[in-house]
Amino acid sequence: MTVVAELLAIGDELVHGAGLDTNSKWLAGELERIGAAVHRFGVTSDDPGHLRGAIAEACARADVVVATGGLGPTLDDRTRDVVADLLGGPLWFDPASWQQIQDWLRSRGRPVPDSNRRQAFFPPGALPIGNPCGTAPGFAVPIGRARFFALPGVPREMQALAGTHVLPAVAALPGLRPVAQSWLRVLGPSEALLGERIAPFMVAGRNPAVGVTAQSGLLTIRIVAAAATREQAEAQCAATAAELRPLVREWLFAEGLLDLPELVVQRLLAAGRTLALAESCTGGLAASRLVDVPGASSVFAGGVVAYGNAAKLELLGVPGELLQRHGAVSEPVAAAMAEGARARFHADLAVATTGIAGPGGGTPDKPVGTVCLALATGAGARAATLKLPDLGRGFVRERAVHEVWRLLLGAGDAAFVAAARL
Ligand code: AMP
Ligand code: MG
Repeated sequence: MTVVAELLAIGDELVHGAGLDTNSKWLAGELERIGAAVHRFGVTSDDPGHLRGAIAEACARADVVVATGGLGPTLDDRTRDVVADLLGGPLWFDPASWQQIQDWLRSRGRPVPDSNRRQAFFPPGALPIGNPCGTAPGFAVPIGRARFFALPGVPREMQALAGTHVLPAVAALPGLRPVAQSWLRVLGPSEALLGERIAPFMVAGRNPAVGVTAQSGLLTIRIVAAAATREQAEAQCAATAAELRPLVREWLFAEGLLDLPELVVQRLLAAGRTLALAESCTGGLAASRLVDVPGASSVFAGGVVAYGNAAKLELLGVPGELLQRHGAVSEPVAAAMAEGARARFHADLAVATTGIAGPGGGTPDKPVGTVCLALATGAGARAATLKLPDLGRGFVRERAVHEVWRLLLGAGDAAFVAAARL
């Protein structure tokens, strides 16, 4: 027996491409954690016909349906009306909810528009769910075989109501199968090569399930185990991870779900080394990502955005002759930028980026997407050239930053510096 859950994101903005449904992503993670099996996400507009169909279908398939959105005070938010219609009865007014809504508005010194009264109406048989951080109460009501929960669309409010009501209610259902997950992070092989190596683990229906996801040249092996208890699921995950580890030993560079900049900070901390950055085409993006990581101050000495030639020359000491002879986007200049940053910031390591992000500036020799990276260490600097696809400035900069992390992680713990894989 399993508790099957479906998520439904409601809002015109979501189907018109103006907004992204992040609520379902969050809810799926939380529901999986307590042992519900999320089988499907749906996204629908506020159109009553579409909404009614989507709710009815989800409630015919699943044991738990959590909908978010469509509970606002304006007439274009219609979730409560559609559910009442589906259940064949009129909305009823809940004075207690109306009082809460007024109290919430008054406590913030806001006026109380009469239209907010709409939010205190509920479908027949619904249990109101009070909202401590906004005006829209949610509600719970049985529809068909399902327990249907309607939550406000604002992520902060949705999370609050899910935490106080939906997740505890689902956690009390019989038939939950808690899951545990592990991740092995792999750098080096292609997805196909990795897939061949671990093929026997990826048969459909295996528990723990093993899958591979690829993102910008970084592969993640995801292990998901379901069992009667959380502890058993974790033990099964650990057992599969232990079987997989020897198979991917030479490519394995991390476990868990940390972001690459987080891993870089972790590695630098462990190695007791400091890092400086000299960024041209990435314009400070690498530095910004690095300082997102708590604890970065212990390892990040500083960075320079040396965008123009004068900055490369004056701030980083790149010889003018190198710039003239090879151009700003070249391995010798990247190497000199890295050396310059390393010396000026008194850092153990420095990485430099210089490239052509487009749309202009490309030549047959150095097309848009050409990015030179360099790593300077106590033993000199090494540089390499990436030929990234011309998929826009944002793409080229993001990928270049990604390659900075790969460059820093490629060496592994022991020879953090010496064996940098370029
Ligand atoms: P609503 O409850 O439909 O009035 O939604 C209020 C606001 O919450 C919307 O304007 C969006 O900014 C946000 N929102 C609604 N649905 C979602 C969703 N599925 N994911 C993320 N944000 C959402
Ligand atoms: Mg809406």
